[in-house]
Amino acid sequence: MKSCGPCNLCCKVLHVESLTKPPGRWCRHTAAGAGCGIHGAHPTDCRAFACGWLQWPELGEAWRPSTAGFLIRSEPSQGRICIDVDSDRPNAWRAAAYYGTIKGWSAQVRERIGCVLVYVGAQCTVVFPEEDIDIGDLAGDDELVVGYLKGRTWRRPLVRRLLRGEIADEWRGARIEEGV
Ligand code: SF4
Ligand code: SF4
Repeated sequence: MKSCGPCNLCCKVLHVESLTKPPGRWCRHTAAGAGCGIHGAHPTDCRAFACGWLQWPELGEAWRPSTAGFLIRSEPSQGRICIDVDSDRPNAWRAAAYYGTIKGWSAQVRERIGCVLVYVGAQCTVVFPEEDIDIGDLAGDDELVVGYLKGRTWRRPLVRRLLRGEIADEWRGARIEEGV
């Protein structure tokens, strides 16, 4: 059974609504070297959180968030895997030990109409099996639609940012030729 041990990366990378804590900055209650300074009285959203490394038995010690430089969380209702990266190590997720596995997740969730999103603070990258699309900063009320634009013999990765149901931005990846 895994335990957090010396890790407290979620106290930095996650948005905590009840504390109005933005993503990418240490929580004001973080006690240096001692975890949560208000442990026992910490908010419900902190108590309820368990990252992917804690929950997924297949992820070994190298994936412990404090070691890896990022944490994983899944949003099953949307078929999404989200990766929240330590802003002091923004490219940690691209290291050889992790990147191939993350691309593999992207291929798996795409088949289930999901996606992999990587956040460094509010800055978001959508990971497709074929390429990574940097879409810049996302606000809390932005909604993303991720999929492919399809022709008879090709497809292109497609990301749309919706604001109040309207398309506010669109990004298209490179064309991929497919057999007919
Ligand atoms: S990121 Fe995961 S392992 Fe680290 S403190 Fe948070 S829940 Fe525990
Ligand atoms: S209240 Fe405690 S557990 Fe919650 S983010 Fe702050 S330091 Fe972490």
